[in-house]
Amino acid sequence: MASEESWKEKYLRELEDADQRDKQWQAERNVLERMLVRTSLASEGQTPELDSLLTRLRDDLRNQNIDVEAWRTLQDQIDKAITRLDERDQRATTHTPAEPPVTASGQADDETDLAGQGHRLRIARRVGQLLGQLLNQVTLEPEVESQARTLQQTLLSTNDWDILREGLNQVAELVIEAVTRSQREFEVFLKRLDERLETLRLHFSEQSDAQLSRRDDTDTLDREIREQLGRVSEDIRSSQDLQGLKQSVSQRLEFIGSALERFRTRDIEREDMLKMQLDAMQEKVAAMEAHSEQMQTQVRRERERALTDLLTQLPNREAWQERLAFEYNRWQRYRHPLTVAVIDIDLFKRINDSFGHKAGDRVLQLVAREMKSRLRNTDFIARFGGEEFVLLLPETALNDARDVVDQFRGHVGQLPFHFGGKPVTITFSAGVSEFREGDTEDAVFDRADRALYEAKDAGRNQVLTD
Ligand code: GH3
Ligand code: MG
Ligand code: MG
Repeated sequence: MASEESWKEKYLRELEDADQRDKQWQAERNVLERMLVRTSLASEGQTPELDSLLTRLRDDLRNQNIDVEAWRTLQDQIDKAITRLDERDQRATTHTPAEPPVTASGQADDETDLAGQGHRLRIARRVGQLLGQLLNQVTLEPEVESQARTLQQTLLSTNDWDILREGLNQVAELVIEAVTRSQREFEVFLKRLDERLETLRLHFSEQSDAQLSRRDDTDTLDREIREQLGRVSEDIRSSQDLQGLKQSVSQRLEFIGSALERFRTRDIEREDMLKMQLDAMQEKVAAMEAHSEQMQTQVRRERERALTDLLTQLPNREAWQERLAFEYNRWQRYRHPLTVAVIDIDLFKRINDSFGHKAGDRVLQLVAREMKSRLRNTDFIARFGGEEFVLLLPETALNDARDVVDQFRGHVGQLPFHFGGKPVTITFSAGVSEFREGDTEDAVFDRADRALYEAKDAGRNQVLTD
């Protein structure tokens, strides 16, 4: 009995532990999913292909539609898209910028001003604003004017770096265009541009980023750009030669472009690292999940085994105590009728003695099976021990319960047992008792047991109540 107790405690504790692990895994999984969503958002705006893969990733997360196989394919596609992006970036940095690789502009989204692209987008936006102000200052040929407006819109809206870089080059062209229109306008423009460049320079000086590694890179980028912008200002102030000025402005912008490219490459590397860490973490979490599931199944199985009688496959005495406690609590709360019956096979010893223990076992199995199959599913039957069974009948008053048990008795008495070629009749006696005001769990069982022995006394094969 004492060892049975400790088994029970052990299983309950293991169940609790498994539950705890499950909760922790859930919390970790939530964090992981949020990180995935953020990382995927931060990676957007590189190519439409990558964007649509990342959108799918987020959709799956949002819909809790995580199919490991499908995600493996998705991950492959993302890897390939990133590889293509890297190749494209390398081409873009090593080739002359006069022929930027043509890429469809991504679904431009002003709100996608996220970490990875923040800087270069902000610069482009700023130049776009600047250009707008310039256009308000100068008079241009209508055709050039409309070109300039289109260019301004591009700078303000697109997220495609290749287009932006080309746009920045065109700004230089426009500057020259404006200059040739009028010297006065040119001077005003130079003054304005100088102011704006100063603003831009300040803007970069003010940049302070949360990420530490990123801050280092930002500093380098900032320095390089400031230097170039300073030189542009200087060039503009000192230059008298339009052709030379055009060329030098163009070169400065080009330099800024490649500094930004370098910055972005490092940024992608950081993202890749993060992705690798996420992958590793996810793998770990998946392994944990599998393990936790396995543990839970094992605990559940062992718990079931601990509550089941091996011979009859009925719930055992341990399970009976649990169920009795549960129904007893319900009875205390709702006071609906609840009845207990104790059943004992008559003269079972004789069966063993006459036909062997195996035959006895077979009788127990068959009787158990027959009774179980005739029970309502709210009723509960257990093997209490030996050839004794107990029944718990919720929502059943004493006389109804007696009738149920008596029908069982009639049925069991009709079962066509044959041992050694001889027909054998199996009967049982039973005592039934109902929960009454002031009863403990045991009190009702004791009354039913007493009634059972009265039934034995009265000649067996009958059901009595108390
Ligand atoms: P009564 O009508 O008074 O209940 O007579 P009885 O012979 O059934 O009662 P008793 O308690 O004297 O004997 C019960 C017998 O049940 C004794 C035991 O050998 C047998 N028994 C208990 N458990 C098992 C079992 O798992 N398998 C078999 N084959 N026999 C069992
Ligand atoms: Mg007995
Ligand atoms: Mg008996």
